[in-house]
Amino acid sequence: MKKRIATALSLCMMASAQGAAKDLSAEKTIRLENMTRVSEGVYVIEDRQHIMLVPNITIIVGRDAVLVVDTGLGTDSAQRVLKAAKKLAGRRKLYLTVTHFHPEHGFGAQVFKGQATIIYNRAQRDEMLQKGPGYQSLFATRLGVAKAMRDVRLVAPDVVYDDVASIDLGGRVVKLNYYKPAHTLGDQVVSLPDQGVVIMGDLLETGSFPIMPWFPELGDTDVNPLNWRDILRQVAATQPQIVIPGHGRIGSRADLDAAAQHIEQAREAVASGCAAGETLGDLQQEATPLLAAQHPDWQLKDWIAMEIQVNHARLCRQR
Ligand SMILES: [Zn+2]
Repeated sequence: MKKRIATALSLCMMASAQGAAKDLSAEKTIRLENMTRVSEGVYVIEDRQHIMLVPNITIIVGRDAVLVVDTGLGTDSAQRVLKAAKKLAGRRKLYLTVTHFHPEHGFGAQVFKGQATIIYNRAQRDEMLQKGPGYQSLFATRLGVAKAMRDVRLVAPDVVYDDVASIDLGGRVVKLNYYKPAHTLGDQVVSLPDQGVVIMGDLLETGSFPIMPWFPELGDTDVNPLNWRDILRQVAATQPQIVIPGHGRIGSRADLDAAAQHIEQAREAVASGCAAGETLGDLQQEATPLLAAQHPDWQLKDWIAMEIQVNHARLCRQR
């Protein structure tokens, strides 16, 4: 079982064999020099090099308060993000939210505890408490970031909402939306509707195939491609101008459309494959290169096989 976990994680998280021997935490630390202003009062510490485990971090500055979205992996990253946020905020009140519970997005929240009001949706909070310790251990032992994970403590949010919340930062109202399970059980879309800005977390990775975690060994089989496609379409219908992905360069509505289309194509390929009686192995062998060829410039091709596996479990279970 251990071997299967290692295989899945190293395949899917792009951890190298050397990763287990060499601690990669320093390479995965947030770099403040990558901060850019994308809209009035909206700053992104951008994942320009598409480095695995380094997410995009957004800081939204209003007249009265500042919201930070995501912390980076571990306390070193979070300290840097907090420093950048405080520099922008001055004496203004701070808020923190995270797009979902995965370690590189939220496992630095403890640095903000007492410094900022932390707000999550209920599904996200519950998922972090349930799955967080397992992911912390696996990231430390399998993904080469033990140092970053060493002093992580999972902290409860100060405020929890169910479906929709808004934060008035002063002249700038931020919407927090929980839809339904997709990349995780508790994905959150953060938006500034008046400025056409949306923050997608790992519901979108620009320039790459989607990350669909399917780890039965960890008790984590909650990823839901159908909901995921629907959320992407729903957000795209709001006509956003600036789309901030979980990883990769800042994108646009076209990236949402392309991701939704890919997810649909993968579902259709699996559905027709199972209707024809194909096994999971056959499907992966046949559909992976076809799906990869649709986007030759996209990264994370290793995730396609797992996406097919997820769809197979969802669509072919009765066969
Ligand atoms: Zn994620």
